[in-house]
Amino acid sequence: MPSHHVRALSLKKTKLGETDLIVTFLASDGCQVRAVAKGARKPGSRFGGRVEPFTVADMLLHTGRSLETITEAEIVTSHAAIRSDYDRAQAASVIADVLDKISVECQMEDRLFGLACATLDAFDTAEGDTLLALVVAFLLKSMAMHGYRPQFDACVECGAAAAGETRFALELGGLYCEGCGGTGPDIVYLSPDARTALRVLMGAKMADVPGLGIPRDVLTDAFGVMRAFVVYHVPARLKALALYAAEVMRDAAGSR
Ligand SMILES: [Zn+2]
Repeated sequence: MPSHHVRALSLKKTKLGETDLIVTFLASDGCQVRAVAKGARKPGSRFGGRVEPFTVADMLLHTGRSLETITEAEIVTSHAAIRSDYDRAQAASVIADVLDKISVECQMEDRLFGLACATLDAFDTAEGDTLLALVVAFLLKSMAMHGYRPQFDACVECGAAAAGETRFALELGGLYCEGCGGTGPDIVYLSPDARTALRVLMGAKMADVPGLGIPRDVLTDAFGVMRAFVVYHVPARLKALALYAAEVMRDAAGSR
């Protein structure tokens, strides 16, 4: 019977039968893998924390008739510091949610795995505003890898330099200059500060994002636009992203 090794990041787990789990992973080649962890819900299971969400593990998978089965799993990075902290876990759930939805089609985008790992590594020690900065940077970079790279420098319609423009077109993923575009439902307001922040985040390494010191209100605006952009282009219900957005908006309302 065929078996193969895979390094993968656990995105979510679903109950199967009395004691099993189906675990959804992002494999290192950027494809999604769903595999059964037999007996993982039994006390003292050999899987222990090895298939918990946000864990990176080396696994041996056995290919069955329908789903694959995990026969071995060794932790590479546990990211336990994310699971033990409410704010980190909430932010990381957004990353897992988006990865779960955009990796389904298996486009063999291997940079996606590296981005996911770098983001979660940064989450291990991040707190407060830096968590939001990491989420925004992840949404931006993952969408770019998914084929939707937003443009912030030139008008998406005529190519004219877009300096002080604030109308961001979700459909085309960029700004309209004064003479272009209309007022359609796919246009959202992007503040000049949020635009600058998004440009900086697009070019920054994940490990450097926490040190950028982007103010909370700017991050909140940038998050709002990126969230709308993701929701517009990813045809799936992103529950963790919706919950996280509700908290970000609540924080913003509370600080005004
Ligand atoms: Zn234009």
